[in-house]
Amino acid sequence: MNTKIKRIGVLTSGGDAPGMNAAVRAVVRASSYFSVECVAIYKGYQGLIDDETKLMNARSVNNIINKGGTILKSARCLEFRTPEGRKKAYETIKKHTIDALIVIGGDGSFTGAMIFHSEFNFPVIGIPGTIDNDIHGTTHTIGFDTALNTVIDAIDKIRDTAISHNRLFFVEVMGRDAGHIALNTGIGAGAEEILIPEEDMGLDRLLESLKRSEKTGKSSSIVVIAEGDKTGKNVFEIAEYVEKNLPYYEVRVSVLGHMQRGGRPSCFDRVLASRMGVHAVESLLKGVSNVMVGIDNSQMILTPLESSIKGKTKINKNLIRVSEILSV
Ligand code: ADP
Repeated sequence: MNTKIKRIGVLTSGGDAPGMNAAVRAVVRASSYFSVECVAIYKGYQGLIDDETKLMNARSVNNIINKGGTILKSARCLEFRTPEGRKKAYETIKKHTIDALIVIGGDGSFTGAMIFHSEFNFPVIGIPGTIDNDIHGTTHTIGFDTALNTVIDAIDKIRDTAISHNRLFFVEVMGRDAGHIALNTGIGAGAEEILIPEEDMGLDRLLESLKRSEKTGKSSSIVVIAEGDKTGKNVFEIAEYVEKNLPYYEVRVSVLGHMQRGGRPSCFDRVLASRMGVHAVESLLKGVSNVMVGIDNSQMILTPLESSIKGKTKINKNLIRVSEILSV
């Protein structure tokens, strides 16, 4: 173990995700286990600039493993994008004699961490927390599994009303420009079609598919659409287009929105966050820095922050095939 690190700072940054609290808890408790102090920084990088910090102990993180959101709060901080802002942040680090930083967030937060590392030669480790699952170097990000379960619940409810009224529902789910949420929930909820940014399905193919569905006796249908899909139209425009071309369908749109980011983390996310938090602390104490903790094949792995930001996550082609076969 690297005895130079006596005090670790931890913050949550960017979009919140269920399971971030479990990660904070793991970082605080693992620090305590290894007899290292842990300082919480509130509101992401903003709190580092404004000196909003608190010394934690193992008991400070009681009863948070089951809570959504982040008790440390999160913020988007423009000032940290400037050298002056980062200098102020470094002054807070020095003032509190923090020796290393664990950043729980998405690719934006990791970009900030990487720049901070290079400017001040300061040890940083990232933990991926985002529902979008769009970070290279991990098959799962913290929050993704919970979001999938939230979406599945919502679509199951929408299906009840779709069946009762013979309606076609377009459900828009989050994911920015990644289709992981749409593809997985589309299969899990038994959607007829799934539109994701990675595959340009095109509106004509969608119409053909819906025509086929109608001919084979489907009177209600669910189509899951990723928010960043490539048809060039938003979900309301797609619905309008389909209604115009297939008048026998009564179309409704449901945009699930921010409810997908909230809620109690699933067991999977709690375990993932716990493992990642422990691995981040252990790695820092071994002298590793400028990397992100990830999971692959059930094993904890480390990826340079730079690759985690620049690498593209790949959509699982097998899932696309399964969805095509099952929407027959
Ligand atoms: P996420 O981490 O979820 O991708 P953002 O993209 O909003 O969320 O990034 C979170 C924060 O990380 C930003 O508010 C900013 O403080 C910091 N950040 C993002 N990009 C940079 C950058 N290029 N340089 C410095 N800091 C950055």
